[in-house]
This record gives sequence, structure tokens and C-alpha cells, in this order.
Amino acid sequence: MPQMSKTVICTYPDTVLRRETAPITSFGEELKSIVEEMKEIMFEGDGVGLAAPQIGLSMKLAVIFYEGAHYTLINPVILEEKGVQEGEEGCLSFPGIYGNVIRPAKIRVKYLKMNGEEQIVDVEDFLARVFCHEIDHLNGKLLIDHFSPLKKSMARKKMLRKRRDN
Ligand SMILES: [Zn+2]
Repeated sequence: MPQMSKTVICTYPDTVLRRETAPITSFGEELKSIVEEMKEIMFEGDGVGLAAPQIGLSMKLAVIFYEGAHYTLINPVILEEKGVQEGEEGCLSFPGIYGNVIRPAKIRVKYLKMNGEEQIVDVEDFLARVFCHEIDHLNGKLLIDHFSPLKKSMARKKMLRKRRDN
């Protein structure tokens, strides 16, 4: 049973954020309660998405809430990408840090639903951006990895300073 730290979001440079996550293979009550907790934390943090590593759980699970619709992504994989979009992104694991990120304009994603059934969706624009951001998390890839080397090093220093001062 993984240990959950109530409402504490892991921030950079917590090592769990860099770990490759494990696929989910059981779809019972435990998964349901993790998803409920993640949704709560996402709302508290005012985020549009939250990935399991951000609460210290190294598993392929993310929740997204955008324009009234909930998505629970289990073992998600991007099947297709089309076009490009550029826009500003933030991350609950990098409080106070924002930057422009280039993402595909449209993606097709395969994932499992809460009952283990496979689902394929096409998403575009901002929602595609959120999907890509959360799926990145499940591969240990973070917001700052999309920044230029200079901006990345500034963001890292800012996060390390914050950690030291706390
Ligand atoms: Zn994030």
C-alpha cells in the first residue's frame, strides 16, 4: 500500500518526479480512492491536471478537469500528433514558474478507464496541451525540460533556492 501524504504536492527537485512510472494493472477500490484524492488535491491547488508522481505515487495515472469535463487517464499513450501550438504553461510542482512550451495542436490518446476498458480520444488546443503535460509527468519529463537551457537553469535555481529557504 503506497503511502500518501495528504494534500502535499511534490515539488521539484523531489526525485519521484523524475522516475519512470509503473503501469496500473488493478482496477479496484484502491485505485478509486487514489483518483478521488487526486481530484481533491487538483481542485485545492487550482490546477487543470494532476499526475500521480506529483503526490508521490509512481504510477501511470493522471486526472484532468477542463471546461466541466473530467478525464482520468490510466496508462495513457499518445498515438498520433498533429500540428503545433505554443503557449504558456505552469505546473503545481513548480509554483511560481511559467514558460512557453511548444506542443502538438492535436493528439490522439489511448488510455484505460476506471473499469479497465480501453478508450481512444482526440483532443486539441488547450486540452491537448494539458494531456501532453500530464503524460510527460508519467515519463519523468517536466515543464522545465521544454524551456531553453538558460530559462531552465534559472527555473532550477529558483526552485532550489525556494527549497533551501523553507
Ligand atoms: Zn505538472
